[in-house]
Amino acid sequence: MRNINELLRPHIKALKPYSSARDEFSGEASVYLDANENPYGSISGGNFNRYPDPLQKEVKKKLAELKGVKPEQIFMGNGSDEGIDLLVRAFCTPSSDQIIIMPPTYGMYEVSASIHDVKIVSVPLSQSFQPMVEDVLSKANAQTKILFICSPNNPSGNDIEQEKILTLIRGFDGIVVVDEAYIDFSKSDSFLKFLPEFPNLVVLQTFSKAWGMAALRLGLAFASEEIISVLNKIKPPYNINIYSQQMVLEALNHAERVQKLVLDLVNERTKLSQQLQGMYGIEKVYPSDANFILVKMTNASAIYKKLLNEGIVVRDRSKVILCDDCLRITVGAAEENAKFVKALKVIGELEYRS
Ligand SMILES: *Cc1c(COP(=O)(O)O)cnc(C)c1O
Repeated sequence: MRNINELLRPHIKALKPYSSARDEFSGEASVYLDANENPYGSISGGNFNRYPDPLQKEVKKKLAELKGVKPEQIFMGNGSDEGIDLLVRAFCTPSSDQIIIMPPTYGMYEVSASIHDVKIVSVPLSQSFQPMVEDVLSKANAQTKILFICSPNNPSGNDIEQEKILTLIRGFDGIVVVDEAYIDFSKSDSFLKFLPEFPNLVVLQTFSKAWGMAALRLGLAFASEEIISVLNKIKPPYNINIYSQQMVLEALNHAERVQKLVLDLVNERTKLSQQLQGMYGIEKVYPSDANFILVKMTNASAIYKKLLNEGIVVRDRSKVILCDDCLRITVGAAEENAKFVKALKVIGELEYRS
């Protein structure tokens, strides 16, 4: 197995990062004349005239306690998407290296790789949306640097079996990213507990879903200190703005609220899933461990358009591999779900009742 240094792009290993004013001085002073900031304040109101902490130390201290890792094992990104992008940039040399994805899955792995001219090897999931472990491992070669696993998987909604992920982590000679954007909605354990065991494991989480803070753009990567220090070295220096840092600190002071929110949402998920079973035009309601439900329909694209006409937007996944005629329905608040079910009933009866 290659170690992190062997997997890294050689020039990244040698890179000397930008050193910001706030990197070079981190104590307390009475006069700050080091960063060319405006001393008077902000035109917007609020105190936004000083640059934020580039390493979000206060946030990470709290987060480390909550997650049972060291602060040095946490990277904060402007959304998980920044973490995905930086991982590709750190490990994959354009036009020679490759990543493996297991479609149907989250689109950003492919987009990030494509932006950097990194080749994408696709090994589809099985019909039951689980990895074809042997296939995946047999497709890897010296150029394969990252394997992306999404669990619970978007758009299928199911957990990937823990044993399968472990076999992939053990067998894959590169970085394995386990994207846990929806882990709070799942009964499965996070892979965070496996970090001490696997130096090639990166776990992604986000404040965008269960924590309800998508607009603040706060994504997390957890990994060995070695991998995290690489991400910190290549990230934009001030990638998390001060407002987001303040808000996430506030949220972390009320972390217990997440459970209640998740409980409500999972109840809505169960209710919605039951209501959808057996409705006209619905062929299959897939089980979900996330905050959305994949539904197979008769003529999904037509239904999608008719829902739009009713002012209801769902995600049309009908052109996606293994998702023929599928729509992905985000579980909304009770009244939103009720509106959706009502509209679907009317559309379905008109469309399919003979
Ligand atoms: C929503 C989602 C994310 C979160 O992205 P952010 O950039 O943190 O908002 C990450 N991975 C998957 C699979 C998602 O569906």
